[in-house]
Amino acid sequence: MSHEQDEQAVREEITTCYRYSAGLGLNELSSGNLSCRFEDGMLISPSGASEANIAPERIVRVSLDGDWEGDVKPSSEWRMHAEIYRQHERARAVVHTHSDHCVALSCHNEPLPGFHYLVGSFGGDDVPCVPYSTFGTETLAQDAASALKERSACLLGSHGMICRAGNLKSAVELAQRLEIMCRQYLLARQYGEPDRLTSEQWDEFFDRARKVSYGRYI
Ligand code: 13P
Ligand code: ZN
Repeated sequence: MSHEQDEQAVREEITTCYRYSAGLGLNELSSGNLSCRFEDGMLISPSGASEANIAPERIVRVSLDGDWEGDVKPSSEWRMHAEIYRQHERARAVVHTHSDHCVALSCHNEPLPGFHYLVGSFGGDDVPCVPYSTFGTETLAQDAASALKERSACLLGSHGMICRAGNLKSAVELAQRLEIMCRQYLLARQYGEPDRLTSEQWDEFFDRARKVSYGRYI
């Protein structure tokens, strides 16, 4: 494949995945953004993207220092995506959403605790929540990238969530998984604080997950 064909294929993939993610209700009214690492920078959804206006030609090519060209502005969260690519060599795709239940929990500035074994899908016994800072800032970028050292996803205080994966399809799936887990946690909490798995149970979970190659993200 030529370089142009390669770039076109990634633009199409971001467009398709954005529409899919919006269809799942994860990105309503321009909340959230998707990117893929591309060469030494990234391709990212435009600022103000929506299911209706996203298109391959509106995906923006941005360097990790924020340089871009053309008429379409990149997502205001390009710093958060860039810092994750900079700090995590294996990250090939990043998804940020304001999905309902992730936002609800993030507004309590609490981590998602290990109340269910599938919390382990993100690489540990909880999903941390980084403190609130203004969207698009370097502080938010640094906090999110640090939280993603030991986990594939984190909550962003009073804002939403962000995750990284080896490809865009897996990143969207992780964003959907986190939304489901936050929903189930909040549901369980209506009857009081749910039980947590014990450290022995987590050891056994990760051991088994490794053996059966279950949880591609672990
Ligand atoms: P953009 O529309 O600029 O991508 O911003 C949406 C968002 O989620 C900001 O945090
Ligand atoms: Zn946001």
